[in-house]
Amino acid sequence: MFGKSNSARIDLFVVTDAVLISLACMLIYMAYKEVNNAPVRHAQEMAATILAVSDDFSRSDALSDLRIGNGTHFDLADRLENARKQVGAIRPGSSVTLYSDHPDFAQISGKPDQFAENALQRAKSGEDQVFESVEQAGGGSAQRAIVPWRSPVNCRDCIARGVEDYKIGDIIGVREVVVPVGDEYARTISKLLYSCAVLAAALMCVLGIIFPMIKRSSKEREEMTEVAQSLERQASTDPLTGLHNRRYFETALQDVLTEFNKQQAPLGLLVFDLDHFKLVNDTHGHDAGDIVLKEVALRLKAITRDSDIVARIGGEEFAVITPYANRDQLLMVAERYREMIGSLKVDIGKVILRPTISIGVATNAKGETEAADLFKSADKKLYEAKRNGRNRVAA
Ligand code: GH3
Ligand code: MG
Ligand code: MG
Repeated sequence: MFGKSNSARIDLFVVTDAVLISLACMLIYMAYKEVNNAPVRHAQEMAATILAVSDDFSRSDALSDLRIGNGTHFDLADRLENARKQVGAIRPGSSVTLYSDHPDFAQISGKPDQFAENALQRAKSGEDQVFESVEQAGGGSAQRAIVPWRSPVNCRDCIARGVEDYKIGDIIGVREVVVPVGDEYARTISKLLYSCAVLAAALMCVLGIIFPMIKRSSKEREEMTEVAQSLERQASTDPLTGLHNRRYFETALQDVLTEFNKQQAPLGLLVFDLDHFKLVNDTHGHDAGDIVLKEVALRLKAITRDSDIVARIGGEEFAVITPYANRDQLLMVAERYREMIGSLKVDIGKVILRPTISIGVATNAKGETEAADLFKSADKKLYEAKRNGRNRVAA
């Protein structure tokens, strides 16, 4: 029974540990992913904001002075320069670039790499979307975002010049924003994450492993104490009557006697023996004898005070340690016991038995220090009572 409940508890702890460890790992992984993505996401949001708030070079009002066709695009170049300054102020390290393969914008167009060229061609073919990529650049990474750039004007003389014609709203190129991904931010966060992971691991160890271990060992200690107490009880209890046994009685008598002598307080001892008990066994059987013993024990328990110590010290012999009782009081108590047992009717089935007891009485009045001596004098009195005809008290 013990083993089963123990192993069931350990299984439960193992499952709890596993669940806690998995949960902690999952949380740390989620946090790690979150931290890893955070700077990129931040840069993406930054790029989108910059694209939204900066000059999109597609508004004709802003291009009112633009002189297209005579080979000068200073205003557009100025606006681009201005936008670059603004963007650099919003997020240091950011840049704005226009890409166009039309000869009219050759002066302000950047030289597209593979990604920009691809975005430019796709935008021109009508894909109206943001082309995004994260790229490594100069020791850190950068978020690139490219959107279509629509013409704010109609080309007056494109056909005459023999170049590709464009009208207001036509996609004439693309606009790119590059925002550096904040690696320092990421490093700080990952340091924070590392600390969190260490903390989580420590917490997990405490919650998932150490705490259950402490709980388990204290529980085991409790159980062992319970077992020890139960064994102790068993070792000091008479199994037939449930009274204290001789072993307990002898120790208790010595302890109590020493203490009462020290306090100079009166202590009484009664030793009982059932009269002609062998006859009960011989006539009615051992089981009937047992019934009588149990009945007598029950009566003794019922009549004694809480401070009295009642024990079965032999086959049909009992003893009661009676604290704070002088000789006269003790004689009265003994008489009461004798009468009470004498009035007992034990039904053993076919007949009713009427047991009697003889009682020997002793006190510590003469200052006996040894329990054995006190017991011997009570025992001597018991035999005196037997000799004098039984069913009586001798003191
Ligand atoms: P006396 O009045 O002189 O004490 O006579 P007695 O017959 O009681 O004394 P004796 O010592 O001759 O017999 C005691 C009997 O108690 C003998 C034994 O069979 C019986 N006895 C001892 N222990 C037990 C027990 O646990 N159960 C039963 N049923 N009988 C027991
Ligand atoms: Mg007897
Ligand atoms: Mg006897």
